[in-house]
Amino acid sequence: MEIIKNVKGTHDIYGEETNSYEMVESLMKSIAELYAYNGVRPPVLEYNSVFVRGVGESSDIVRKEMYTFPDKGDRLLTLRPEFTAGIMRLVVQNKLYATNELPLKLYYVGPVFRYERPQLGRYRQFNQFGVESIGNNSPMNDTEVIVLAYTILCSLGLEGVTIKINTLGDEDSRNNYRKALKEYFKDHIENMCEDCKSRYELNPLRILDCKVPEDRPIIEGAPKIGDYLSEASKARFEQIQDALSVLQIPYEIDESLVRGLDYYSETVFEFHYKSKAGLDYGAVGAGGHYGKLMEELGGPELPGVGFSFGIERIVSVLKDDGLLNDTKSTLDVYVMPLGDESVLVAEEIAVLLRNSGGYRVDMCFDKTKLGNMFKRATNKNAKYALIIGEEEIKNDSVIIKNLTTQEQMNIKVDELIDKFDELFSKEETQE
Ligand code: AMP
Repeated sequence: MEIIKNVKGTHDIYGEETNSYEMVESLMKSIAELYAYNGVRPPVLEYNSVFVRGVGESSDIVRKEMYTFPDKGDRLLTLRPEFTAGIMRLVVQNKLYATNELPLKLYYVGPVFRYERPQLGRYRQFNQFGVESIGNNSPMNDTEVIVLAYTILCSLGLEGVTIKINTLGDEDSRNNYRKALKEYFKDHIENMCEDCKSRYELNPLRILDCKVPEDRPIIEGAPKIGDYLSEASKARFEQIQDALSVLQIPYEIDESLVRGLDYYSETVFEFHYKSKAGLDYGAVGAGGHYGKLMEELGGPELPGVGFSFGIERIVSVLKDDGLLNDTKSTLDVYVMPLGDESVLVAEEIAVLLRNSGGYRVDMCFDKTKLGNMFKRATNKNAKYALIIGEEEIKNDSVIIKNLTTQEQMNIKVDELIDKFDELFSKEETQE
């Protein structure tokens, strides 16, 4: 029968790669915890309006990339294409903002879905880790979010990460800038791509995201946001740059950085890293400040700032650069019963070692030769083999074999956990 394959743009994660994802995600979480963030888990399914209102009708995500469908009750649902809008919905609905402890600092990890053209570093289902710091407008809040993201990337071992920053200014700045863009593109839009034509009507800022090579020279000549910033926005951006310099966080200003989601205002940023082999997976992370998103979703006027990492891209660059060495699965003990009577005793001992000893234990269920069992133990990277034959059952004992030194000893079952505790603590002090 024909085998069924995975859906285009999705990918299976298994074997050592699963350990890489878990290592990366747990390091991200632990550093976010150091910065006083707490975990949050919004649903994958939301009403379509969360993203239409949140991410914005003029964004590519909403216009072209969402998995949206009516459910059996004819509700229009969307698989989340990003986390921020869903988290803001959660915060508003559960009134999490009604606390003096603002900013609310939340982190998340999980899959998101975008109907994009699959290519290197681009999937239709991929995983994001990110944070939102909600309810404080201090430029220091934006700065700290950038510092957190940078710290995570450095802790993963990435050296030479480029941080690109820009400001989109406040509402007045952006309105003036939009007018200037409309004026500029008026004479060019006829010769630009169909997407740009609709962007021109919906939000001319989005034209700056266009990747069509023929449109790029026209876009390069467009006015720059820097010339339309209000004094307050300029001052805010300077404060952030000063703070990053004091904190010795390297950054570059990139005036063409506008980000593809409509909710951004003021500071926006992206994190780039090229693996040593020169492969460019695109930005490994990105984020920014959002002034009006909470209001768009029916909540109070509270600003926020956040970033999101693409975990697939981060795992890829870490793998390319040999920074994922220690992700092989290992076993503490592999239990080998010899003969039918030993199987149940072996299972009892395996359960005891796991539940009372806290050891990672597997056992052989098959009737096979001792030599085969040793091969399996080696393939599973076991540190010790535990052999139980007829003789051992009679004596209430087991044989433990250190698979590195090949040393072997006979131990009474009721002394087993103490013995392993001793052996493993000895190993730890040797390491
Ligand atoms: P965004 O939510 O668009 O700001 O994206 C945040 C991060 O998610 C990006 O910097 C990428 O690392 C990652 N990302 C975005 N789109 C994709 C995709 N289609 N496949 C894999 N990673 C992605």
